Amino acid sequence: MIETEVLVLGAGPAGVSCALECLDNKLEVLVLERERAPGGQLKQIPSPIRNLCTGYHNDGESLAGALEEVVHALVADRLLTDCPVSSVDLKNSLVVSNRGKVSYRALAIATGYRVRLLEVPGIERVSDHILYRSGIYKDALQEKAVVVVGGGDSALLTALDLGRISASVHLIHRSSSFRARPDVVKAVEESPRVTVHTDSSIRAFLGAEALTGVLISKDGEELEIPCSKVVVKIGYAPNTELFAGQLDMDHRDHIICDRSGATSVPGVYCAGDIVSGGVDRIAWAMGSGTDAAFGIRKYLGHKF
Ligand SMILES: Cc1cc2nc3c(=O)[nH]c(=O)nc-3n(C[C@H](O)[C@H](O)[C@H](O)COP(=O)(O)OP(=O)(O)OC[C@H]3O[C@@H](n4cnc5c(N)ncnc54)[C@H](O)[C@@H]3O)c2cc1C
Repeated sequence: MIETEVLVLGAGPAGVSCALECLDNKLEVLVLERERAPGGQLKQIPSPIRNLCTGYHNDGESLAGALEEVVHALVADRLLTDCPVSSVDLKNSLVVSNRGKVSYRALAIATGYRVRLLEVPGIERVSDHILYRSGIYKDALQEKAVVVVGGGDSALLTALDLGRISASVHLIHRSSSFRARPDVVKAVEESPRVTVHTDSSIRAFLGAEALTGVLISKDGEELEIPCSKVVVKIGYAPNTELFAGQLDMDHRDHIICDRSGATSVPGVYCAGDIVSGGVDRIAWAMGSGTDAAFGIRKYLGHKF
């Protein structure tokens, strides 16, 4: 059994900020991260990051690189990567990972979001043609007929981006209005390269072996759209299943906490995207991670 004073789950911006603040305050920390490297969602950001006062980044990879450098220098062997946590017992201050059991005095949950998967009957049959990231597959999408699913910034920016390289782009969104930024919505509506289908959803995938199209329902009617790839951008879900029934959560499965990140269980704090009423932004993740570290420090009886 591994024992630690503070255990941090997740090495995205929230978890890493929490760990750095704890280390600065001479707390003994261990961070568990299920992926091979820290950074969380940062590596999925394909576009420039323009909302951080610490500097401009061309994409999330470059920011993740900066985060990794800090982690290697300061957190070092207090981070275990490739280490998914599979169960949690908050009553007994214990988590189980692939490295065995870990007990803690205080816990910071910073497990972030995961990509929400498209659910359509028969999707497994064509899973090779369903993409949840487009940036890294751009070569495969050149001159192809593509369907993009979703109504937020990510879906609309992807549709615009693919409009420049793909043979055709159809954007399918289940509601009548988009959640994306107004300037992005305007660009899509004015683009001659993107065909928009609102109030629409995919009913079935067409093609015996390879994908040849999708059947959508639109305004009560069915319509076939030829395509060989479907890019799905329907948002994100919080990684909070491990804590269900053990912590107070809201109707969106986000964890309820006070301003310092303290949850309904003493000694358990949360930070970042999974916080109820929080903002899914890097700056918020970092700030709330720092806040959680202060809360933990106070909980453990350290003087300010
Ligand atoms: C495409 C895209 C573009 C974005 N653009 C911007 C932008 O321009 N500006 C901005 O401010 N924000 C942007 N964001 C949002 C920003 O990336 C997030 O708000 C931020 O990463 C949240 O940090 P976090 O630490 O809370 O969670 P995450 O970054 O999700 O980190 C959580 C970590 O926990 C780990 N984890 C989860 N479950 C377990 C488990 N069971 N065991 C161990 N580890 C686990 C995950 O592997 C992950 O590394 C964007 C996000 C995306 C996806």
